[in-house]
Amino acid sequence: MAASDIRAPPHTTAPSGDHGRMRLAVEPFALRLREPLETGWGRLEERALLRVELATADGLVGIGEAAPLEPYDGVPLAAVRAALDAYACVLAAQPGLDAEDALEACRAERDLPQALAAIDLALWDLAGRRAGRSVAELISVEAARSIAVNATVGAVDRASAFGFGAAAREAEFDTVKVKVGVGDDAGRLAAVRAAAGPAMAIRIDANGAWSEEEAVAALRALGPVGLEFCEEPVHGVGALRAVRAEVDVPLAMDETAGLEVGAIGSGATDAVCLKVSRCGGISGVLRDAALARAARSTVYLASTFDGPVGLAAAVHAAAGRQARSRPTASRRSTPSRATRPGPGRFAARSASRGGPGSGWAEPQVREPTATRYSISKRA
Ligand SMILES: [Mg+2]
Repeated sequence: MAASDIRAPPHTTAPSGDHGRMRLAVEPFALRLREPLETGWGRLEERALLRVELATADGLVGIGEAAPLEPYDGVPLAAVRAALDAYACVLAAQPGLDAEDALEACRAERDLPQALAAIDLALWDLAGRRAGRSVAELISVEAARSIAVNATVGAVDRASAFGFGAAAREAEFDTVKVKVGVGDDAGRLAAVRAAAGPAMAIRIDANGAWSEEEAVAALRALGPVGLEFCEEPVHGVGALRAVRAEVDVPLAMDETAGLEVGAIGSGATDAVCLKVSRCGGISGVLRDAALARAARSTVYLASTFDGPVGLAAAVHAAAGRQARSRPTASRRSTPSRATRPGPGRFAARSASRGGPGSGWAEPQVREPTATRYSISKRA
């Protein structure tokens, strides 16, 4: 099966009958960022998350995670908790559901992507444990062994930006993402470039903070520093198209992907940023990646500062997709990709290498941080 044909975790549940009943347990937890992150949508100091365990009657347990971020996506944690409690009843009451049916039964009860993602991730993990393979390998037997990741620089002052840029270079990242649309964007970017060197790819993220006119002016002014692309300079397909027509900097879509029906497959931007939480899990990421690529947009993954399971899911989805991905023709440059293990990369280990029967290869992530996802140099 081609990776692009996969839409749901395969072979998750036990045989039909009572053995197919699933029990869902939900546990809240929080991770404090090492340093607060300043962005166009606000300041983030701590991540409140929900970890789920989905148990089958024959003893397998899949791990999932819900990562709504209300200041960013408008979805309260309490709403996700309520949805998960409702899903628990759905999953306990219907024996014999296969993975896709289980997910659809939950969706029919309440269509909340941030909650469905937790169920979807647990189902993928269960599928991996049952098959003795990593989730990435379930998506593609030719899954990449590791994927490149970027360091992130918040909307900080020049001196701090210089420090973060230097640290990223020292840690051998080849890409940094810099938050813009707040404060001294030009000074911050100049500092990052000076510290990180000419070879560092710099992508910026405005989180839709600009108007069309502001975006055009800002990108014309900031472009000479050398930008890989700008993520979400404005919100909306029409506005993105309008800005794209006026600037040379390639554009990526992020929040707009969740704001407008059809945005992902619109081809309005050179690249589309997909997130496990917003897409409703890995199944949604695979679905949306196919839509974006059909419109000749490059796809990359990010997170809303998810916890370890959410980040692991993004890594596995990217590794599974990367194996069969082909560079998308673009009138402009496309985001860089790398496949070999090395600095600034997560490894997507298989079950046999990554732990006892785990579908997830927990990447080397302990907590989300303001500037780096606590990435080991070589996992
Ligand atoms: Mg973004």
